[in-house]
Amino acid sequence: MKVVKFGGSSLASAEQIKKVFQIIKSDADRRLVVVSAPGKRFKDDEKVTDMLIALGEQALNNQDYSAQFQHVLERYAQMVTDLQIEEPVLEDIKENLHTLITSDMSQPSYFMDALKASGEDNNAKLIAAYFRKEGLPAVYVNPKDAGLFVSDEPGNANVLPISYENLKKLRNYKEIVVFPGFFGYTLDGKLVTFSRGGSDITGAIVAKGVRALLYENFTDVDGICVANPNIVKNAIQLEHLTYREMRELSYAGFSVVHDEALQPAFSEGIPVRVKNTNNPTAAGTLITKSVPKSVHTVSGIASMPSFTTVYIEKYLMNREVGFWSRALKICDELDISYEYMPSGIDDITILIRDNQLSPEKSAILLQRLKYELNADEVRFKDPICLVMIVGEGMVESVGTLARAANAFANANVNVQMVNQGSSEVSIIFGIAPQDEHRAVRALYKEFFEQ
Ligand code: ASP
Repeated sequence: MKVVKFGGSSLASAEQIKKVFQIIKSDADRRLVVVSAPGKRFKDDEKVTDMLIALGEQALNNQDYSAQFQHVLERYAQMVTDLQIEEPVLEDIKENLHTLITSDMSQPSYFMDALKASGEDNNAKLIAAYFRKEGLPAVYVNPKDAGLFVSDEPGNANVLPISYENLKKLRNYKEIVVFPGFFGYTLDGKLVTFSRGGSDITGAIVAKGVRALLYENFTDVDGICVANPNIVKNAIQLEHLTYREMRELSYAGFSVVHDEALQPAFSEGIPVRVKNTNNPTAAGTLITKSVPKSVHTVSGIASMPSFTTVYIEKYLMNREVGFWSRALKICDELDISYEYMPSGIDDITILIRDNQLSPEKSAILLQRLKYELNADEVRFKDPICLVMIVGEGMVESVGTLARAANAFANANVNVQMVNQGSSEVSIIFGIAPQDEHRAVRALYKEFFEQ
């Protein structure tokens, strides 16, 4: 049994849904279909999820939302017409949207989550109806009925372990199951969503629940490139990589699959294949626990453009027990998550993602670090870009760092920081943001063109 997940661009129009139908029909093992909300049909189009967010905000702000309501409905209406679905799907969608938008707003985050999730929920109903119309027995299954339970964190839920046992029952359906991605229910019955892009998470959870043979994640690219194709034109594609490599690369900005999504599939050892709805016969990229020895030492190059750097200096810092933990406690208390902390003998630099800081928080952070740590100097340094090389092939191999350093030197890129975990699966370089593209291209040339 294969679990197949389709992203928003694969389901954005009737034309795309027809392709999805052919993909499901062509392989009898594809029995569980997890779907996103309709995404963008063209570059400047809107995703239905974003349209629903705008709709919800208008309602919360007491504005007239009737035009936006109609706007959302038209996306589905167009598909229902083009797919010639005879079942009263559109009427159901309209009624559902009306119920949601007029529901209790006293807890805005739950109100918004229910509205956002309707993007996938209604799309799943529509797709199941279309499959039936085409003569393929299919059934829509709601996450509540399937027992997909999640933590009570609106917009950022986590799956509860009990779900896996419940989802096993999805194996028993004779029909193709069409399952909406992106949300689950708390134990007391409230609908909450995962983080944005979270249909990938549902796909992996369902794959683990039914112990799938394979989790296929269909998107709009032929597979995962070794470097960002917007930076390196015609970058080669990865045929096969490991869970660990994928985790590192998606953390560092490879956005083909959701950052944390694949963990459930990984923990169960389920192979994942990223494929293209618009070119389904292409092999795509396979992700498994281990790979046969690769010809490349490095499997991918990623970059994360902008981090705030907080520099702290104190003479004899190395002798002061608990200095680091006090610095990090201040971050904790301000609810600031930090990413890296390269250090010298008497100095540390804390790297923080820009989205963690507001001007007010930054000012408080600086002040508290200076006074509570009695530091000689605390200041923000210029922002830093992190470039990362990833590859299981680097483990216990000699000379990778030298090759990277050489590539940077030849491209005239100054390296301000280097970080390698003892797993040796990735090395991170801190450079000036304006050098990002030059640095990535230099590494690509060194590791993939030589
Ligand atoms: N529709 C949701 C979003 O746009 C989830 C997803 O597509 O995976 O974030």
